[in-house]
Amino acid sequence: MADCLFCKIIAGEIPAGKIYEDDEVLGFNDINPQAPHHVLFIPKRHISTLNDLEGTDAALVGKLYLAAKTHAGNLGVAQEGYRTVMNCNAMAGQTVFHIHLHMLAGRPMHWPPG
Ligand code: 5GP
Ligand code: ZN
Repeated sequence: MADCLFCKIIAGEIPAGKIYEDDEVLGFNDINPQAPHHVLFIPKRHISTLNDLEGTDAALVGKLYLAAKTHAGNLGVAQEGYRTVMNCNAMAGQTVFHIHLHMLAGRPMHWPPG
């Protein structure tokens, strides 16, 4: 999508600290990290919100989680723990309307989140 920030990162039009890439998924550092490690995993195909997912997207969403899991292993935080979050729409705090799985690690997490 032409006016989507994350599509521009995928296209290389906006720089990002890439930490993971395959045919369908890109992972890059969040520009405003909320933990020592804060990575966003996104599908390369534009999907605006979790509400727009279809049954045929199940494997794609699974790949976002597998990429996060792999990154946790690479960071060495898999056993101590980390958090994954996908916000959906305004009430949940979604600000970029291209779905993204947040992966945060490196500090204690609290519940419930704000
Ligand atoms: P949301 O609030 O939609 O769940 O998360 C959007 C995330 O994108 C935020 O954590 C924000 O810091 C991050 N973000 C916004 N603009 C940019 C950008 O230009 N580059 C990167 N790497 N992250 C961004
Ligand atoms: Zn997009």
